[in-house]
Amino acid sequence: MSTKSYDAVAIGAGMGGYVAAIRLAQMGKKVALVEKEPTLGGVCLNWGCIPSKALIAAANLVDDLRGAAHRGIVAEPKVDVARLREFKGEVVKKLTGGVALLQKGNGVEVLKGTASFVAPGAIEVAGKEGTVRVEAGAFVLATGARPVEIPGFPFGGEIWSARDALELTEVPKRLAVIGGGVIGLELGTVYAKLGSQVTVVEALPQLLTGVDPDAVRLVAKGLRQRGVKVLLGAKAKGLGKKSGSLVLVTEVEGKEEPVECDKVLVAVGFRPFTQGLGLDKAGVKLSEKGFVEVDEQYRTSVPTIYAVGDLTGAPFLAHKAAKEGEIAADAIAGKKTVRDWVAMPAGIFTDPEIGTVGLSEEQAKAAGYDPIVGKFGYGALGRAIAIDHTEGFVKVIADRASKLLLGAVFVGHESADLVAEAALALEMAATLEDVALTVHAHPTLPEAFQEACMAAMGEAVHMLNRPERPKKG
Ligand code: NAD
Repeated sequence: MSTKSYDAVAIGAGMGGYVAAIRLAQMGKKVALVEKEPTLGGVCLNWGCIPSKALIAAANLVDDLRGAAHRGIVAEPKVDVARLREFKGEVVKKLTGGVALLQKGNGVEVLKGTASFVAPGAIEVAGKEGTVRVEAGAFVLATGARPVEIPGFPFGGEIWSARDALELTEVPKRLAVIGGGVIGLELGTVYAKLGSQVTVVEALPQLLTGVDPDAVRLVAKGLRQRGVKVLLGAKAKGLGKKSGSLVLVTEVEGKEEPVECDKVLVAVGFRPFTQGLGLDKAGVKLSEKGFVEVDEQYRTSVPTIYAVGDLTGAPFLAHKAAKEGEIAADAIAGKKTVRDWVAMPAGIFTDPEIGTVGLSEEQAKAAGYDPIVGKFGYGALGRAIAIDHTEGFVKVIADRASKLLLGAVFVGHESADLVAEAALALEMAATLEDVALTVHAHPTLPEAFQEACMAAMGEAVHMLNRPERPKKG
């Protein structure tokens, strides 16, 4: 077996691993990136964020056209599913190819194969052309997470994982979605807009647990308007057949509730993917839930092995993995670095979209703040009215005494993009006044963020400021 050696090796070419590899190479390190799949980019680029956004945008276009009669546009768009699938494939190819070019351009050597530790300082990479021993001064584990399977619903055939749903092999007449979380609602909405009759089965009493309830209410309304049936407090129990049709058996308040369907999408969460990595041979410590334990520089229990991204726990966000990859790379290169962001933004690409960053009102209270809240609805926003996307609002949470901005929730058109301004404001320790004093171009959607900050101070211009309701108790 031949041996190769590097300063650093990243395992897994998703956003955590490939960003770490580029950063290390930029700092003059001899770097390899190991990937077992044929293309780089990991789940996000190949089977997650990117293909889903291609399908979501296409489905939104169909939906917008169908709902434009009151604007004088009457159309019944026809979807060529095969062409849409090809388009999505082209998008993925362009981006994964781009990542490969970036690795090459930065001098990162890509090793195709499956990595497994044989010692703390060495892995074996088993590829098509045999196995290579790879030694390095440092490793970055970035193997991500995989969908959880539930007993009785093995992926394959009629039971889809998110990856299967993104293949877009067909638009089933009836789609049952187990899990009213992020993936269930994003992809459930796509299929509903493309013509499936969708039923979402969620075990908990609400959709999108943990997300601002006012924002979730608008998403639930959007689902209802598109004919999506939602069963809350409903546990998926098993699958059966009735007159040749697939039946998902659910239990709601102790009673069985059958859901007839043609396909079932299971989206009930992620688990860390450490299988076959040989972490025991390296001595890397895992938490009880199987996540890799790391310090503030993403160093594991073995000082020369780092871990980033989904492998280290929730939130499972590609941009979080990328940021962690940068920090780990800097730490390996001996730079002063630490996990130091103020807030991690997140986007949920439902209809309407949600963008969140920082603390919710409840979290702010729990953290000892006396929060004030400002809200501005898109129904009063010129741009939103003009483009016919009036469903939504921006809510800001700030500290009453100092007016320091603590968090923001955006729901409505382009919210996942709009939240970036609030993330910057939080990172820069902006107060409500800072945002209020920043001139925003008119007419634009970000004006809603400015007005929400002004509303929190009772100074909104384009809505009537109402005095705060007295607190109960
Ligand atoms: P999730 O945790 O968002 O939602 C899973 C849902 O399934 C939960 O609401 C849970 O109560 C429900 N559930 C679990 N078991 C069930 C059962 N037997 N019957 C009915 N319901 C059941 O998980 P996900 O949607 O699979 O997404 C996985 C992870 O990836 C999440 O952490 C998510 O935030 C992340 N992700 C993020 C984005 C984004 O940022 N836009 C996109 C996709 C995924």
